[in-house]
Amino acid sequence: MDILDTIAGAKMIIFDADGCLVEGGKPLPGAVETTNILTEMGKKVLVFSNNSTRHPETMMATYTDMGFSITNVLNSGYLTVQYLLEENITSAYVVGEKGLVRIIEMANILITTIKPQAVVVGMDRALSYQKITTACSAIRAGARFVGTNPDTTFPTSNGLEPGAGTIIAALVACSDTTPEIIIGKPNPWGFEYILKKYNLKPQHVVMIGDRFETDMIGALNSGMAGIITNTGVAMTRTNPGSYKGYPDVPVISSLHALFE
Ligand SMILES: [Mg+2]
Repeated sequence: MDILDTIAGAKMIIFDADGCLVEGGKPLPGAVETTNILTEMGKKVLVFSNNSTRHPETMMATYTDMGFSITNVLNSGYLTVQYLLEENITSAYVVGEKGLVRIIEMANILITTIKPQAVVVGMDRALSYQKITTACSAIRAGARFVGTNPDTTFPTSNGLEPGAGTIIAALVACSDTTPEIIIGKPNPWGFEYILKKYNLKPQHVVMIGDRFETDMIGALNSGMAGIITNTGVAMTRTNPGSYKGYPDVPVISSLHALFE
């Protein structure tokens, strides 16, 4: 099907954030205009980011300031909280940054080093040996092991830097336990949460992102359509043909090309 027909038939467009809408803190070509056009067309415009370090409200404010027209921002931190609440988890030890800690606290989940029910692991640029030790001991003592997102690296202006997946891997190594769930893309959990929250069917949702292995696989496995935008840094450029067993996904050179 033609890309514009796919968009026209959708009620919601979900965008990845980094490498799709923004890069290096700036909007990518055509990104702001695209969200504005979609909103004028009456579509819901959602941002689904695997980044757990910032609170979704902070992200929303940043995007709004840049001129984006966005209905809501969901990130892996927010979705992890929804999972903890669904699982009736009331205490956790958190390896993560301020945005993740704050959103967990705001859900009235006690953050503690003493017998936490769960260990939540996300991206943490202040990771220390002590934090790994505390998290590892808690998992060995029976705490549930929950990861925010699987990305082992993420692109920065200095090249690839270690992401949440790298920290999760360290905890897998020292605790001899694998996480019961890693919430972010490509896990369908977040996509299914969005469908429930907005009461939508997957055939009415299109995911646009720059990474096949997270954005596209999560969307396709949830029954949504996907579009790849080749705007991420060169090292994340994706050739959909190399992913066997998945339907063909259209590729656009940038969001600028969408409504040309
Ligand atoms: Mg991306």
